[in-house]
Amino acid sequence: MPKVVIVGAGPTGATLALVLAQRGISVTLVEATRDFQRQFRGEGLMPSGLNALHQMGLDALLDTIPHRPLSAWEFWLNDRRLFRADEPLGADRPCTLVAQPPLLTALVQAAQSQPDFDWIAGTAVKDLLWQNDRVAGVQLVDGRSLAADLVIGADGRASAMRQKAGLTLDTQPKSTDVLWFKLPAPPDYAVDNCFCTVVKDGRVFSLFHGAEVGKLHLAWAIAPEEPTLQQDWATTFAALVPPALVEHFRAAEDAISPPLRLSVLVGRCPRWHRPGLLLLGDAAHPMSPVRAQGINLALRDVIVAANHLVPPLKLEGAVEAAAIDGAIAQIQAEREPEIIQAQALQAHEASRGEQLRRFALLRQGLSSLAPVVGPLVKQVWSQQQQPLRQGITTVQLEV
Ligand SMILES: Cc1cc2nc3c(=O)[nH]c(=O)nc-3n(C[C@H](O)[C@H](O)[C@H](O)COP(=O)(O)OP(=O)(O)OC[C@H]3O[C@@H](n4cnc5c(N)ncnc54)[C@H](O)[C@@H]3O)c2cc1C
Repeated sequence: MPKVVIVGAGPTGATLALVLAQRGISVTLVEATRDFQRQFRGEGLMPSGLNALHQMGLDALLDTIPHRPLSAWEFWLNDRRLFRADEPLGADRPCTLVAQPPLLTALVQAAQSQPDFDWIAGTAVKDLLWQNDRVAGVQLVDGRSLAADLVIGADGRASAMRQKAGLTLDTQPKSTDVLWFKLPAPPDYAVDNCFCTVVKDGRVFSLFHGAEVGKLHLAWAIAPEEPTLQQDWATTFAALVPPALVEHFRAAEDAISPPLRLSVLVGRCPRWHRPGLLLLGDAAHPMSPVRAQGINLALRDVIVAANHLVPPLKLEGAVEAAAIDGAIAQIQAEREPEIIQAQALQAHEASRGEQLRRFALLRQGLSSLAPVVGPLVKQVWSQQQQPLRQGITTVQLEV
């Protein structure tokens, strides 16, 4: 039986490990951390990502995990609402915030019920093993070696597997970092969880109620070269948020978490594979946080990878390395067009926000004409969101 080693148990690695193990393929999943409580993990799942989980038969698993649908998207310019677009914007399900640590834990637990699944946590993969110019396994930091017919690098945007394999990453110029804050949510947000983006006084930030009960998140865009200055954040935010939230922010002075600075890396590997090795998820194509794409695209990577990998991995008899290596090339070919377009659409969204941030007159004009132009802008915006919400190519689980 061929042996697959997956490096990294983020959304890509944990989901792929489960899908392969459920199909009788022998999988070892190796995760560097002991648990999934790293500083920050994205939560937004678009209809495309929810559909991917549905196709993989994971609706019931999702139901056991803290999650919260979004009610609407709102855009505020200065102190005026430009428009509100209610979820699900024509889709069959709304964008939903899903707590990632319990999701990853549940995926791994489900995989552990499969006979041919091994789980190694708290141990990083240090290097690749090679045999005749083909990747033949991995070496762990504790000195252990794991032989494999196929290694999948799902180890995120700083992928060590990518570097060890000599695969390059073409990156977009770095345009933003994010300061992430949490504070108690106003009671209204429990029933009307609006993803609210504000552009005012040269600032762009977003607010929403996360999956965790009672927690409002605030994502503050900041230039990469801008330092994280100590400041009275409650007063800063109170001067910028929509009028209905001003008092809430003033009162939250002692309850706003210190900012967590997150860097944003966007890029794509020209080549996602070497013989015996495939990169998937952020390891192959790190995504911007704009319109919550990374997890969704990772889940769609998993479906396409399963479609191509299960048949050669399940062949009777000796492992056919050529069949596996052919399959991994097909996975990149099938996934790349969607990744390229999604990254272009994310960049387009970000540049619109940047124009509104930089040009006060544009902001002022749109804000004062909001009652007139708002409905039209909403219509155009809602249409343009569809590929980022529903996915761009057809992704259907066939195995
Ligand atoms: C600020 C911000 C907000 C975001 N918000 C969202 C959002 O709301 N929705 C969304 O869809 N996307 C979001 N994203 C993008 C999303 O987080 C990523 O695209 C997604 O996590 C990629 O999943 P992954 O499994 O490929 O990689 P990761 O989630 O990075 O997982 C990689 C795993 O590999 C492990 N690992 C790393 N190196 C090794 C090693 N050598 N050995 C063993 N294990 C290793 C890591 O510990 C980690 O668990 C956001 C990104 C940013 C920067």
